Amino acid sequence: MKERRLVFEKSRRGRVAVEPPEVDVPQVDPEELIPEKFLRDELEGFPELSELDVVRHYTELSTLNFGVDTGFYPLGSCTMKYNPRVDEDVALLEGFSRLHPYQPEEHCQGALRLMHELASYLCEIGGMDALTLQPSAGAHGELCGLLVLSAYFKDRGERRDKLIIPDTAHGTNPASSALAGFRVVEIGSSKKGIIEPHDVERLMDENTAGIMLTNPNTLGLFEENIKDIASIVHSRGGFVYCDGANLNALMGIARLGDMGVDLVQFNLHKTFATPHGGGGPGSGPLGVKKELAPYLPLPWVEKTSDRYRLVTDAPKSIGRCRAFYGNFLVMVKAYAYIRRMGREGLKEASRMAILNANYIKERLKEDFHLPYPQTCMHECVFSDKYQQSRGVTTMDIAKRLIDYGFHPPTIYFPLVVKGAIMIEPTETESPETIDAFIDAMKSIARDARENPAILKDAPHSAPVKRVDEARASRRPVVRWHSPNDNDRG
Ligand SMILES: *Cc1c(COP(=O)(O)O)cnc(C)c1O
Repeated sequence: MKERRLVFEKSRRGRVAVEPPEVDVPQVDPEELIPEKFLRDELEGFPELSELDVVRHYTELSTLNFGVDTGFYPLGSCTMKYNPRVDEDVALLEGFSRLHPYQPEEHCQGALRLMHELASYLCEIGGMDALTLQPSAGAHGELCGLLVLSAYFKDRGERRDKLIIPDTAHGTNPASSALAGFRVVEIGSSKKGIIEPHDVERLMDENTAGIMLTNPNTLGLFEENIKDIASIVHSRGGFVYCDGANLNALMGIARLGDMGVDLVQFNLHKTFATPHGGGGPGSGPLGVKKELAPYLPLPWVEKTSDRYRLVTDAPKSIGRCRAFYGNFLVMVKAYAYIRRMGREGLKEASRMAILNANYIKERLKEDFHLPYPQTCMHECVFSDKYQQSRGVTTMDIAKRLIDYGFHPPTIYFPLVVKGAIMIEPTETESPETIDAFIDAMKSIARDARENPAILKDAPHSAPVKRVDEARASRRPVVRWHSPNDNDRG
């Protein structure tokens, strides 16, 4: 394999990319103008390369990226589906992309209309009454929702600081709860992988603000008891928050609001066509039922006759949770996506997502242990139980998939499944791609039986093999330490 070197190692003293023309104004040494404390001396050893070196270096690095545009990316819970190019085109229209947040309302009626309509589409899809487009991500939407709950109870003079969260929850759920000042009480899921109403009954008391669940949950299973659970929670004065990150299984088929959910965040970057992964902008609008609407963050868009205006003042609102409009261009993409798909298209997308996941589940269940064999929703969860006797783990399976050209699924989550392998194919993959993935998984299962050694040091084809992940995240090396000048020639 080709040897790859850091840009610093390619550096040659005195090599330059561009030579600006001679200046025709008086020259001053920048060191005389800039106070010493602002001068960076660690730029010592900054790489010196020709323009072509720079172009080649970064072009080559860009080919090492794995994305939905380069291959199958079945990362469970993340909904890594294809994001149609037309939505990007729409977001690039100048009226949207060059909009200034301080532009007066009369100059951006179109943008306000888009936000108003998008909010109403999302309310319709989720069965909610009011919605804020402010939050920048799913977790941010969760936090806003919980702050809304907290403001509601404060307003009524009630002290409810307990929140029930299932053991299958995404880590952001307890984290958002703690940030919003709630105490988390965990509720276990049953053998069927879902929550049972009698357990909620037992935990729900007058100090409990409500329950925060995910439907379908992170095992890819529909919480069948949600209506009963909601009526128990409501009868004790609590609310039902649904983490809406898994909405790709429900669009147009069932509405969370009709199941008794009072608050839900929508992950636009998962369900509604914005590329994500790698930290791009996201958007996590929060929808709520009428009772909670006055507490939503500001600003929100209101329509009076044929004008749209931003409401920036409301007595009960929790206030701003983000600057300006939120991640506006993500909203544009979601709007374009919903308009183009239409009611039937969204429903079809969810149905295909569910079909694909069940197809994988059925075809792989002989090769990999399937802890919850019932029909799944948009994702399925296996484990490494069958492979363990050969010393092969989920990590080995995931790493080996890289050699077959696939992004590994989500692993070791949800925590209730030991050695979990969580596969979410999404609706946008062809049967051929899904079959190729299944074949790869089957041959990995065969290797685990016959030739486990090949799995233990996979991936063989990637430029980076196995890294010490704990150390890489706890003690990342993000700064180049320049070697001796001699080394750089
Ligand atoms: C992705 C995800 C979240 C968090 O969403 P972000 O946009 O990454 O903050 C929460 N819950 C579940 C189930 C998710 O899959």
